[in-house]
Amino acid sequence: MQLIIQSKALADAILAVLLTQWPGVGTDLQYKNCFELIIAVILSAQCTDEQVNKVTPALFANWPDPASLATAPLEALEKAVYSTGFYKHKAQHIKETARIIAETYSGRVPETFEALLELPGVGRKTAHLVQSLCHNKPGLIIDTHVLRITQRTGLALSSNPYKTEKILASIITEELHARASFALNRQAKHICTARKPQCEICSINALCRTYSPGNFSQ
Ligand code: SF4
Repeated sequence: MQLIIQSKALADAILAVLLTQWPGVGTDLQYKNCFELIIAVILSAQCTDEQVNKVTPALFANWPDPASLATAPLEALEKAVYSTGFYKHKAQHIKETARIIAETYSGRVPETFEALLELPGVGRKTAHLVQSLCHNKPGLIIDTHVLRITQRTGLALSSNPYKTEKILASIITEELHARASFALNRQAKHICTARKPQCEICSINALCRTYSPGNFSQ
């Protein structure tokens, strides 16, 4: 119990800084509707958002909705998403996800977490992201950046995304889940980078357990 209180105090202090520093941020993925968002997030697995953004304009120009993407030739899809990596799996996943959305949900991206998780290529991170950005529901989006900064700061001492999600859910109020996820993501992506964290200019260094003045490497 004492540990949870301490962790909540740390989360409150860190978020007080980061939510001000990164107000109203969302995903870097470019999309025009929920269907484009879910497809872009599936493609972002093991790939940067920037690379996905290079691929999706042509993808959605050719196949702009679930019904058309569902009938796209697999080989053409593989070619279209090749540069995002794991292209064979991703092509199959987006085609099948499009088919299910078209046939089962009349072309609309489903709203419930359980229904989203049933879609090929959709895990908890994607489901939470879609829920928060498309359906205005709470969602903790634990990507590689959030995982890194939560470990370094001590917010959640786990390398397992599911465990981290559960820890953060216990110390961050539900209405802040999405905003907190995006703020942590931005701080990690731009300041607390994987190879060379910029601890000396980090706005939360006084709260971070791994920061020690004069020693900026991890
Ligand atoms: S002080 Fe350094 S390790 Fe801690 S959150 Fe900031 S950049 Fe990351």
